[in-house]
Amino acid sequence: MPIRVHPDIANLVPYSPGKPLDELERELGIHGAVKLASNENPLGPSPKAMAALTQTTATLHRYPDGGAHHLTRALAERWKVGADHVVVGNGSDEILSLLVKTFMAPGDEAVMADQTFVMYKLAVTGGHGICVEVPLKDWRYDLSAMARAITSRTRLLFVCNPNNPTGTVVTHEAVQAFMNTVPDHVIVVFDEAYYEYVRDPHFPNAVAYVQQGRQVAVLRTFSKIYGLAGLRIGYGVTTPEIVGYLQRVRNPFNTNTLAQHAALAALGDDEHVAASHAINETGMAAVDDGLRRLGFDPLPSQANFVYFDTRRDGHEVFTRLLHQGVIVRHIHGSMIRVTIGKPEENRRFLKALADVIGQCAVIDA
Ligand SMILES: *Cc1c(COP(=O)(O)O)cnc(C)c1O
Repeated sequence: MPIRVHPDIANLVPYSPGKPLDELERELGIHGAVKLASNENPLGPSPKAMAALTQTTATLHRYPDGGAHHLTRALAERWKVGADHVVVGNGSDEILSLLVKTFMAPGDEAVMADQTFVMYKLAVTGGHGICVEVPLKDWRYDLSAMARAITSRTRLLFVCNPNNPTGTVVTHEAVQAFMNTVPDHVIVVFDEAYYEYVRDPHFPNAVAYVQQGRQVAVLRTFSKIYGLAGLRIGYGVTTPEIVGYLQRVRNPFNTNTLAQHAALAALGDDEHVAASHAINETGMAAVDDGLRRLGFDPLPSQANFVYFDTRRDGHEVFTRLLHQGVIVRHIHGSMIRVTIGKPEENRRFLKALADVIGQCAVIDA
């Protein structure tokens, strides 16, 4: 008997994380490649987190604290909610999958943008749900169109803010108008992985909706500004009712001891966060300026990456950059996303791009 697999699973395309640096360097016979592909912190992990890791190794024969007690309490205090409003996960990706697993039955719908974080589609389709994709409007989430896409089968609605890969945000005003129309049977998931990078004073306070008792889940992560992507730890701030259901579904030891301790230390490392924010600000200005000098029109970004139209075969641009030791992310068509790195990495990217665009034919729009 052959094994059976549901077509929803068979038809999934695995998430493509890109090759590890060392493997790529071996393959291409280069060294000193720069990775600007996954929106990681170019300054590395919080030094306080690294110190906490060293101190934690002696207790690794013990199971983790399944309730992530200290981290949960610290996060609750930080966001001025009760500890019963916080759930910690193996990356915010896990919380996302838990939301799908917990609240979606086969045939239920999740509303999302057509150009956004690919994990929503993977998680929902893998959970036998239906993805209702709403086109972006001027590269931004079209919240009124998303509200109109809600049906009685809608369980989740994802708002990636800032949006990956565009870097654009929806404002407080737009979110408020949207929240006034969203029915209570829909959980609105604000994915704020880049929250700590945002400068826009009109950025909404999504946690306030949780405090008001709305059906909202705010996802945050230690993978981006805190520099702990390799440890896999993120969290959700949501209602005690939703937390309660997620606690039933999650694995008992979903986050490991090292990750919990490092995250707690990183949360208290204001200096590292400030330095990471600052290097992103100057790097963003330099990359934006450099791209404009090369004739591109990058989208205004509130995150730690920039999205732009190469007006060429994006895969070819990506591949040629790769051969120059600069790894970016080809999203689709002519569109490329590049993470803001250290000043020398940004210069290296801009220089490589200047070389590469001379080698690729321009596509007429
Ligand atoms: C990077 C990222 C995350 C974070 O994922 P983790 O699982 O916490 O590493 C979540 N959402 C978006 C949009 C991201 O870009």
